Amino acid sequence: MTALDDLPLRDDLRGKSPYGAPQLDVAVRLNTNEHAFAVPDGVVEAMGKALQVELAGLNRYPDRDAVALRTDLADYLGHGMTTANVWAANGSNEVQQQLLQAFGGPGRTALGFGPSYSMHPLLAAGTGTRWVGAFRDPDFGLTPAAAVAQIEEHQPDLIFLCSPNNPTGTALDPSVIDAVLAAAKGMVLVDEAYYEYARAGTRSALVLLPGHPRLVVTRTMSKAFGFAGGRLGYFAADPAVVDAVQLVRLPYHLSSLTQAAARAALSQRDAMLATVEAIKEQRDRIVATLRARGTEVADSDANFVLFATGGDQKVAWQAFLDRGVLIRDVGLAGWLRVTAGTETETSAFLTAAEEILP
Ligand SMILES: *Cc1c(COP(=O)(O)O)cnc(C)c1O
Repeated sequence: MTALDDLPLRDDLRGKSPYGAPQLDVAVRLNTNEHAFAVPDGVVEAMGKALQVELAGLNRYPDRDAVALRTDLADYLGHGMTTANVWAANGSNEVQQQLLQAFGGPGRTALGFGPSYSMHPLLAAGTGTRWVGAFRDPDFGLTPAAAVAQIEEHQPDLIFLCSPNNPTGTALDPSVIDAVLAAAKGMVLVDEAYYEYARAGTRSALVLLPGHPRLVVTRTMSKAFGFAGGRLGYFAADPAVVDAVQLVRLPYHLSSLTQAAARAALSQRDAMLATVEAIKEQRDRIVATLRARGTEVADSDANFVLFATGGDQKVAWQAFLDRGVLIRDVGLAGWLRVTAGTETETSAFLTAAEEILP
């Protein structure tokens, strides 16, 4: 048996582990922030028809530039976005990787404020980009002054912001994004994977795009859109940023089937997004119920909640699993993250929490 260490692997990848939440066969799975509801029947039908149309044409490559899909995504985003402002790939992880390929790479630096999405440093590593792990405040907040000081110290080529932030759940104050844009000499990427779940009045960084050609806002259909298995992420930015990623994207990276299914889902967006309010209700129920019993909880604008376990989070994580509830240990001492599920799944979590948490 050949071990990984026996292969001539790149030195900077030695000793690294692949990204991976345990995918365990458990009754209640609240660990990867998927949308809890299945794709509605009417949308399944629309997707089926759209895919059927594509099948005989699979001898041909797909539309390399995914123009029709990008037009539909621009229409969904609003804010004056057009096809030229939008780029799509197989998940927002792929669009972020393409942005790192174009704007990061050997000799360049990317910076993010932890705790945040663990894929950002992994994507940097994979593209040979040096990663600077900057810090949020001890209460997981981030002030404009703290953000700017760390940017000035490290002068990164690319800055990752995540709003609403994973794993803490809270959206960034708009003043932080404004200050970061003013201080940054390179690209600023705002990961808005959870934007559709944000509390009313939360500003999207999309409003800042006019006049900020180095700002990129990434979105995904994996979360509120309930299309995680379909793999479709996208960004909105100045059209020049779209030109930049076209230098590094693989030709025909988005299959005809992906483009067709995503367009069918977007055409049925009201049905696809109909359950977002139900998820937000369960999210708010988790926050309120845990706080009422004295558990510390971070404010959430997402479909998940970060809560304090009052002790070793690994022990608490196992105790939830023993009760058939799979949640996420994000590696933050004393904290665990739970995805808001259906009412039944959420009740199962809260019942277990009542037994487990001090
Ligand atoms: C889940 C998640 C994504 C989604 O990635 P996809 O590749 O689009 O599935 C992106 N960013 C953050 C912060 C996430 O939590």
